[in-house]
Amino acid sequence: MTMNNRNIREVLKIIDGQKTSDGDGVQLTRLIGTAELNLIDPFLLMDAFGSDKPLDNIGGFPSHPHRGFETVTYMLAGKMRHKDSAGNAGVIAEGGVQWMTAGKGIIHSEMPEQQDGLLSGLQLWVNLPQSVKMTESKYQEYSKDDVPLDQSNPGYSIRVIAGKTQNGVNGVIENSHINPIYWDVKLHENRQFKEIIPAEHNAFLFVLEGNVYVGESQQLVNKGQLALLDMGEALSISSNTASRFIVIAGKPLNEPIARGGPFVMNSQEEIQQAFNDYNSGNLV
Ligand code: MN
Repeated sequence: MTMNNRNIREVLKIIDGQKTSDGDGVQLTRLIGTAELNLIDPFLLMDAFGSDKPLDNIGGFPSHPHRGFETVTYMLAGKMRHKDSAGNAGVIAEGGVQWMTAGKGIIHSEMPEQQDGLLSGLQLWVNLPQSVKMTESKYQEYSKDDVPLDQSNPGYSIRVIAGKTQNGVNGVIENSHINPIYWDVKLHENRQFKEIIPAEHNAFLFVLEGNVYVGESQQLVNKGQLALLDMGEALSISSNTASRFIVIAGKPLNEPIARGGPFVMNSQEEIQQAFNDYNSGNLV
C-alpha cells in the first residue's frame, strides 16, 4: 500500500493540561492522568516538568516507590540525577532518555542536577500487561548520541527513541508489550511530515515548539498542547513555521486498571498489597 492510500489520523481532542506541582517544588503540567484525560491506553500519565529557578529552589523528586508499570523520562533541557534501589544511578542530560521498568517494585529518586539555566523534560507512565506487572525491575538508559536520528526526509528529522520509521530507522528502546513509538520530530518551515503508525496503536502528539496542522482536516495544535489522535494508519502534519513535536503511540492493553498513587495494578486488592509491601519493606 502506498502512503497516499493510507487512512490519515485526525485529532480527536486537544488537551492543554493541568498545572500542578509534584515532588518538591517542580512545576508540572499534567497532560494525561487528569479528569479531562484519564488515560490513553497503555499510557497512564504524562507530565511536562520544568523550572527556571536555580538548584537551591528545586528539590526534585526525592525517594519514592513504583510498582506495576514503566516510567519514561526524556530530558529537553538541563540534567536530572537518578538513583534507585536496584543499584542504578546516573545523570540524564538534554536529549537523553531513561525507560525504567518498575515491575514488582523499585524505589528511586530523580533530582535536578544543574546549578542554573532551564530544567525541562517529559515523564510518561507506560502500563505493563497483567502477565508481567510483577517482573524484575529493568532499566534502559541512553544519551542523546545513542538515539538514532532519521534525516532521510528533506522536510523533517526524527530522533527515534522507540519504534521504527518509514525509512527503517529503529529506536533504541526495546518493549515487546506495546511496541511503542516515541519520536522527537523537527519539522522545517512549510514542509510536511508523513509517517506510518501501526493501525492498532493508540497515538498522540505533544507540541514543543511552533504550531502544527494535523491530518487532512488541518487541525491546528499549538505549542504546549497535546493532541489525542483517532485510529488510522498514517500521520500527516504540516507547519508554516519551524516546529518540534513528540509523537507517542502504543498498542492498548485493554485490561482493568487500578491506580493507587505510585502503584498501578489491575485490582484494588493488588494496590493494597503494594502499600503493605512498601510499608513493611518488602516492595523490592
Ligand atoms: Mn518516579
